[in-house]
Amino acid sequence: MPRDILENVWNRYRKAGEILKLEDYLMEELTSFKMRLSFDMKAVVGGQPKRLKAVRIWHRAQMTRYPFKGGNRFRTGLTLGSLESHAAEMSIKCFLHGLPYGGAKGGINVNPNQCSSEELRQLAFTFVDELHQRNAIGPFLDIPAPDLGTNSTIMYWMMDRYSFLERGKPYVEGVVTGKPIEVGGVPVGGLHGRREATGRGLYVALDVFRRDLKLSEKPSVAIQGFGNVGTYIALYLFQNGYKVVAVADEFGGVLNEFGLNIPKLIEYAGVKKPRTVLGFPGSTVISAKELMGFKCDILVPAAVEEVITAENAAAVKATVILEGANGPTTPEADDILEDKGVVVIPDIYANSGGVAVSFFEWGRNTDNMADSRIPRENDINLVLNSLDGMMRRVGNEIVEYSKRYKVSLRLAAYILALDRASGLLRVRRNAEETVKAFG
Ligand code: NAD
Repeated sequence: MPRDILENVWNRYRKAGEILKLEDYLMEELTSFKMRLSFDMKAVVGGQPKRLKAVRIWHRAQMTRYPFKGGNRFRTGLTLGSLESHAAEMSIKCFLHGLPYGGAKGGINVNPNQCSSEELRQLAFTFVDELHQRNAIGPFLDIPAPDLGTNSTIMYWMMDRYSFLERGKPYVEGVVTGKPIEVGGVPVGGLHGRREATGRGLYVALDVFRRDLKLSEKPSVAIQGFGNVGTYIALYLFQNGYKVVAVADEFGGVLNEFGLNIPKLIEYAGVKKPRTVLGFPGSTVISAKELMGFKCDILVPAAVEEVITAENAAAVKATVILEGANGPTTPEADDILEDKGVVVIPDIYANSGGVAVSFFEWGRNTDNMADSRIPRENDINLVLNSLDGMMRRVGNEIVEYSKRYKVSLRLAAYILALDRASGLLRVRRNAEETVKAFG
């Protein structure tokens, strides 16, 4: 029986906690949520009035004066468990990089492909209205970011609505990240490099481990998902001498064993409505299932959770899995892959470039510039160089923890993250106890 997705994440937390011998009160705090907000909201989808389920989750923050942060999905089939699991994973990413946020996640249960542009804008507005009424959004409270089915335009609409509701107040641009740079010639607080950030971080994560991997000179790659994350990792790999042989999205996949021309594929998919790689000239069709078991060096799941499971892990032929999506590999699959000697570069580290650069964007929007990693100028090279440094530093620490504790990279990343978080949580508790004792 497959385990519940949230339970899978808690098991990873608990394993790391046991290794670090963390106190029970810390584990209890770390495996609980600050807020689970769910409501039904009014919407129009494809011209039809509907009530849609919407959710926002806050995990725990190690620094209470900082806000929560996490992606916001427009997608059908959202479950509370999956959003809770991603909020808890988001905290791990923040702990890893020493970002001061608590993890969050949320979304609306809707298929964005069925909505007109005006309907999507209205969805973004209503969602912000509902969160705002409940005091659950704000640049110092909770900062959503783009995720499955959402993009920079939707982030702009959310910011636009919030700044209308809070007009006259400072720092309103910091209410969401992943915004465009400008709209109609007016700067709206976006940061150069945020669009590329998650893909770029993934590429650097692979590069950190490359020296220890047995890869051919021009390694072949298969990628599931060709949205924000899949597109940019494909592009960075293509530009750096990798051969991307297969790419799939929710409508199907394309294959060219000599290597797909990624810039042309991006151009091709970009004009399709809905966006898809299917039908790309010079390619043959490959199903999502075939792609997961395709013979290549590196497999990049960059779409949805739980796609590598006990059912298909044995059939994976790649020697490296670079996790772009959140939670793509189940623990049962992890065990099978470990036995086969497949190296898994885990999501909580590999795709953390998005939140790292979102932190820069938010810091600049809200004048929180004390952290020297935040670039002083809105310049793509400064942004990506700072991100590269963060990814390399944490990647090397994960390698060190993996050797020290003789564990997988995933468990090493959890141990490192909880090691950092528990330090801060203890200081907070001790401060509270001191105040209680001495007034
Ligand atoms: P997106 O909506 O831009 O793209 C998603 C892609 O996945 C699309 O190509 C879609 O067609 C495809 N897809 C959806 N369902 C599929 C299925 N069942 N099989 C195959 N392909 C499918 O989303 P994104 O922002 O690229 O996010 C992708 C993943 O990366 C998600 O798991 C997200 O949580 C994670 N992530 C995103 C970011 C970010 O900055 N956007 C950061 C960290 C993690």
